[in-house]
Amino acid sequence: MNTKIQRLSGTIAAQSSAQGTSGVAVIRVSGSGVKTIIKKAIKKELEHMKAELTPFHDQNGNVIDQVITLFFQSPSSYTGEDVLEISCHGSVAIADEILSSLYQQGARPANAGEFTRRAFLNDKLDLTQAEAVADLIESNSIEVARAAKNSLEGAFSKKIFSILDSLVELRSTIEASLDFPDEDLEETDHNKRLAKLFNETRNSYQALLEETRVACKIREGLVVAITGKPNVGKSTLLNQLAGHDRAIVSEEPGTTRDTIEVNTTIDGYSVSFIDTAGVRKTDNKVEKEGIRRAIEATENADLIIEVKDATQESMVDVKEANENHLVVYNKADLLNNKKRASATSKGVFLVSALQGIGVNKIVDNLSNRFKNTKDIVSTITARRRHLTSLKESFESFDIASKKEKNNEAGDIVAEELLQAQNSLSEITGEYSSEELLDSIFNKFCIGK
Ligand code: GDP
Repeated sequence: MNTKIQRLSGTIAAQSSAQGTSGVAVIRVSGSGVKTIIKKAIKKELEHMKAELTPFHDQNGNVIDQVITLFFQSPSSYTGEDVLEISCHGSVAIADEILSSLYQQGARPANAGEFTRRAFLNDKLDLTQAEAVADLIESNSIEVARAAKNSLEGAFSKKIFSILDSLVELRSTIEASLDFPDEDLEETDHNKRLAKLFNETRNSYQALLEETRVACKIREGLVVAITGKPNVGKSTLLNQLAGHDRAIVSEEPGTTRDTIEVNTTIDGYSVSFIDTAGVRKTDNKVEKEGIRRAIEATENADLIIEVKDATQESMVDVKEANENHLVVYNKADLLNNKKRASATSKGVFLVSALQGIGVNKIVDNLSNRFKNTKDIVSTITARRRHLTSLKESFESFDIASKKEKNNEAGDIVAEELLQAQNSLSEITGEYSSEELLDSIFNKFCIGK
């Protein structure tokens, strides 16, 4: 038996709605034991996709709660297995009680992402669709949510499969020609046909590469580090940027990271600000970890906003300013009018963070970075790993194409094309390792 399947055997249960008190809590059960559990806990048969208001019994026959059940008969369910969804009153105690009685009655706690992993293993979703589920759940901008929905519906996989089909056609055309003498091939226009196919496939690759690059940027957003000497106004500027009427700050309570990293969307696009003013010596373990991450993020930031005190430093000849390094002269309110007029070079801003003057121009600059991507933003959601595999696949294809042009042996060209195919299959998960699956599904929450 496949070890992967073995590890996912058993009937699993977990709360799918968020933890904590709520109006309703949803508990999901999946696996071959679902019907037995229904017999014990619901004490009647449930029809496929028919909601029932019914008592839920514990293992001793006592009623825990009046619940609404929804049964999905295999294979017509999210996981492809029998699935039971239980909506109970959203009290933590009731949800816990129902879960423990499910464990008593034959289920086990689900691992992170196990419902979706089962859906993947039962061919309900390919890997890009499974990832789109996570993206959709985590999306904090409407752009990402739309793109994730498209990917979930298979928009991304379709494009990958279409290139895969072209690669298979190329390979079979080349392999079929291996046994024929050159004269025969010339007669059948073989080389022309092959060149046309290579050309078309190259165009498809390039379009998808561009789209994937954009999709990565949309999903992962822009990371902006705010740097500068103490007291120049970094925190004041950050507060202005995050508090701007075009910015929506997403709260992440319970972590000290809030003080260092502020996640916002500006005009619907995801932007994280790293405030290096929060980077200081501390003995607090959690804060230390936050600071380590902040420093790492600063090193990898897409954009640096360096803040200077305009009353202390001259604005003449600001060499360090460029597209990815903005220099912001702050405290403009303390300058006299003559000095104030002098911030004209590209990438240089003169603001008063305290009074909120000039901040709009910085917001425009950030928002404009996404504008050229606007036409294709909502088509798909993609991750760095997709881009990497797609690039690898294109490299192999490119080598194959060059070898073909140089009239190298057909089986060598076909071998490169096979390599290109394998790299693409990693994206959809047809060609995947246990490690890759672990790394993807372990990032899901329990109950997804
Ligand atoms: P940080 O150490 O770089 O984060 O600086 P802060 O944001 O904490 O600001 C340091 C001091 O400068 C505070 O007293 C702020 O009120 C003040 N400050 C910040 N921005 C401005 C500004 O635009 N104009 C004036 N006049 N004071 C400012």
